[in-house]
Amino acid sequence: MGLPTTIAIDGPAASGKSTLGSLLAKELGYLYFDTGVMYRAVTLAVIRAGLDVAAEEAVGKLAGDVRIDVSPPSVDDGRDYDVLLDGEDVTWEIRADAVNDYVSDISVYAAVRKAMTDQQRRIAKENKVVMVGRDIGTVVMPDADLKIYLDASVEVRAQRRYDEMVARNQPSDYDDVLRSLKNRDQIDSNRELAPLKPADDAVVINADDLGILDVLEKAKELVYRV
Ligand code: C5P
Repeated sequence: MGLPTTIAIDGPAASGKSTLGSLLAKELGYLYFDTGVMYRAVTLAVIRAGLDVAAEEAVGKLAGDVRIDVSPPSVDDGRDYDVLLDGEDVTWEIRADAVNDYVSDISVYAAVRKAMTDQQRRIAKENKVVMVGRDIGTVVMPDADLKIYLDASVEVRAQRRYDEMVARNQPSDYDDVLRSLKNRDQIDSNRELAPLKPADDAVVINADDLGILDVLEKAKELVYRV
């Protein structure tokens, strides 16, 4: 058997899965696709349209109507990719607090998940890919050649996210970050459709005591072991 050509990385918010996915994709020369940006882009569209996040039908319809593109970075400002919402660059705007606050609420809706999952499956079919999210190993690419579930305690994740924000000169409060992560974990793990959980055949890595480069080493061992 050769190298795995489809790699799924799932895990809770701020576990380091996006960094791992990006580094691993670079190492292998594969497409890196962070599915969270799609749910974030829809959430931004909902906020901009002034829709109530509880209005499931309207939110689901909007998710089917917007065009989301993820393409190689056009600006050298630390980004890994451009995220375009109906052609407009929203790469940084989708990281705003308001998006963090609502993204898990709209991600429970069947119509939203179907619109996103269909596009993700198309991308997976057309590319050698490292795809990152919550339900990649369980739902989007159940046949992925390698599945990794990257976990860490919520306190460790909150501290890392807080440190990142401070490093970027973004005003932040540890308790707020912790509260927001707990809220998202709770909704993402308990929803009926495609809840956050390791696939039966996923390799679980706990990153509580591991730096990102240690995690990368472990992932590379899994990639090259076959
Ligand atoms: O990974 P990130 O934190 O950017 O994801 C934002 C949110 O999008 C998650 O909290 C989750 O509600 C949703 N999401 C999802 N399925 C995915 C990726 C993200 O439901 N595959």
